Amino acid sequence: MARIAVGGFLHETNTFVPALTLWDAFAQDGAWPGAMEGEAIFAKLAGLNLGISGFMHEATLRGHEVLPLAWAMAQPSGTVSRETFERGCAAIVDRLRGERVDAVYIELHGAMVAEGFDDAEAELLRRVRAVIGPGVPILGTLDLHANVSAALVEEADFLTSYRTYPHVDWGESGKRAALWLDRVLAWGTTPGRAFRQSPFLVPVTTGCTLTEPSRSLYGMIAGIEAETGAALSLNMGFPPADIPDVGPTVIAYAQDRSAADAAADRLFEALLAAEAGFASHRKLSVREAVAEATARAAGATRPVIIADTQDNPGAGSPSNTTGLILALLERGAQGALVGIVHDPEAAAAAHAAGLGGTVASLGGGGEGPGQERAAGPWTVAALSDGRFAGTAPMLRSAAVEMGPTAVLAKDGVEVLVATIRQQPIHRETFSHIGRDPRNAGILGLKSSAHFRAGFQEIAEEVLVCLAPGENPEDPEALPFTRIRSGVRRRPRA
Ligand SMILES: [Zn+2]
Repeated sequence: MARIAVGGFLHETNTFVPALTLWDAFAQDGAWPGAMEGEAIFAKLAGLNLGISGFMHEATLRGHEVLPLAWAMAQPSGTVSRETFERGCAAIVDRLRGERVDAVYIELHGAMVAEGFDDAEAELLRRVRAVIGPGVPILGTLDLHANVSAALVEEADFLTSYRTYPHVDWGESGKRAALWLDRVLAWGTTPGRAFRQSPFLVPVTTGCTLTEPSRSLYGMIAGIEAETGAALSLNMGFPPADIPDVGPTVIAYAQDRSAADAAADRLFEALLAAEAGFASHRKLSVREAVAEATARAAGATRPVIIADTQDNPGAGSPSNTTGLILALLERGAQGALVGIVHDPEAAAAAHAAGLGGTVASLGGGGEGPGQERAAGPWTVAALSDGRFAGTAPMLRSAAVEMGPTAVLAKDGVEVLVATIRQQPIHRETFSHIGRDPRNAGILGLKSSAHFRAGFQEIAEEVLVCLAPGENPEDPEALPFTRIRSGVRRRPRA
């Protein structure tokens, strides 16, 4: 039996978003519970589909003792402030002081950027190492969108990443880390490892593992592992991060370095060969998407989904642009339902006005077309406290919190506005407020791919549209200044 300390500090940072991310964003309950320390980790995270939940479950089954440190995760957003980073690190590191542990597991995202630290996770692990000393393995899980650096691979003894996007295997990845923990402890030496960085970036939506070429690439991993005995991770990277180590990577571990290298090369060659497949994905302008959706919806019994990927809060966008809503109104679309628009003022105004009342405008706040407020009057069609149990397999959660929420209607378009920023992952996002998404003709979702975990199975078709937002689908549009040289901003056909 080993004694294993567990914790987590997760953020996916869009460095092109101007506002800093402060501690409040980590402390707040929302799509997942807010920051916590100690025994609360058992009470609040057991049974969720998170890395730490899967790790604790499997490690306990295997007879290990788990020492809970601290865990915090915020919605993707701008660079993490120095004070916030220090607080998150200290919560983990301070609880480790004076403890004798056999290993440490830290749930990471892998794309956190903090003021002063391009590679925030490597810095966190350095601080963990400084407390526990040499010889105690540090293991971690990473998001499929991690921007991994050589330094992070150096600091950790074992990392493993999700293999699905939507991330339905988030918890499974934690279990996998616990399985490998026993091998790493048995080896008694730090594992051999290999690390490869892609020469091209992959746009966020095209990394979805329900579509090619990602489906086939991720499908190869288990086979290569079975043949080689190595552990492999393929990370798609998170493009809107102006740091040297942005982009896809492959990581491999084995008992010796040469075995890790051989396994890494097989997966890396497959990634390179998939470049044209990534380049072939079709995206539509917002007008094209609305025209196509309107035509398709006319003869359909299931909703046509338009993914408003560029305003995906899951990639750090504010989730309040109105380009898609305005295009639906302009087209005269009927039976359209759009969400989640993050607009606490409109939600509060709707609750004050009551059912049947009106709200003058909603959304907007940015500069430029499609970012202005959508003028009303909008009729208050439904109200809720924004609390529901979410059942989508990616993030099943007994207590999702959106804060005061409303459905606002104008002509044939209904918009769900909420107080706590998050993306629509669960169908209950809409059904809890009396809007069964299966009954919508057109469903506009501010999400890149995670929505597919809950919505793909009810959709007639999914269209990806390029309405305004701070998550440009084409990384070529991002004003990089610090990306390492020689990286293609988009995959080449
Ligand atoms: Zn991700």
